[in-house]
Amino acid sequence: MKKVQVTWAEINNTIRSWNDQIRSTRDREFKVIVGVSRGGIIPALMLSQLLHVVDIDPYKEIKIVDPFTSDWMDNYVGQGVILVDDIWDSGATLNYFEKEAIRKEVYLNSFVLRSKRNDKDKDTWYEFPWETKEDTTGGREQAVTALLRSVGEDPNREGLKDTPKRVAKMYDELCAGYSQDPKEILSAIFSTDKYDEMIVLKDIPFASLCEHHMLPFRGKVHFAYIPDKKVVGVSKIARLVECFARRLQIQERMTVEIGKAFEDIIKPKGVGVIVEAAHECMIVRGIKKEGSKMVTSYLGGAFRDELPTRDEFLRLCGK
Ligand code: ZN
Repeated sequence: MKKVQVTWAEINNTIRSWNDQIRSTRDREFKVIVGVSRGGIIPALMLSQLLHVVDIDPYKEIKIVDPFTSDWMDNYVGQGVILVDDIWDSGATLNYFEKEAIRKEVYLNSFVLRSKRNDKDKDTWYEFPWETKEDTTGGREQAVTALLRSVGEDPNREGLKDTPKRVAKMYDELCAGYSQDPKEILSAIFSTDKYDEMIVLKDIPFASLCEHHMLPFRGKVHFAYIPDKKVVGVSKIARLVECFARRLQIQERMTVEIGKAFEDIIKPKGVGVIVEAAHECMIVRGIKKEGSKMVTSYLGGAFRDELPTRDEFLRLCGK
């Protein structure tokens, strides 16, 4: 069975054409719009909005009916009724309503979003937007589906079937930094009076997303500080880098954020951060500069104020 997703845009277009059709045939005034439960309810409400049923004539009404009863027709003998449904499968439901309408002399004007009465549609499973299962990713999955469609892809084809779900989930990882707290990361510290030499951690790998294109930029962070009675475990520095890298970033800001967070929380005598990274947005698009790297730095305390400290840091980082 072929699954076809019916979009809001398609539904809007269809309902607009119903509206035009109804307005152009003024000979038979309708009394009520009937939405066949459940799928007909939403299109019936949408149509009623276009027709301004309630504002124009308070006697006109919208009614939601159970498809397997026809008692409601008794109230509209000799009158026009607009019947709205989402889909006619075999046409049995419509046949039933039409027969009843003839018997009760109700002028039935029926509209349906999709009809499977043609043989070629027999194997199609139409899914309407109000039937789509809830998107627990805050709309991410639907956004990816829309993106795929907009570049000319068919989101329903085999290879792309699970792509929106995968991409949505991927951003949990790529943007994990938003839910991480630098204070918590740097809460485990060792106190020491003895050590006040520069501590350098070189080549911490990271991957981030540039906020202009949402493409990755990747590289290394070199981090150094001079402790003031407080020393931090090596893994915590790597986690601090992750915390700021796993967000939408620009390299300059990420560099400063890593340095400043460490400065604010640990209060060292000095801190230095150098970030070197290659940006996919420069490689795969635009100026296409393969192999170019951007280098950014943050220097605080002794690293900013004392030239020998700064020189030692740059030398240790091979700069
Ligand atoms: Zn970019």
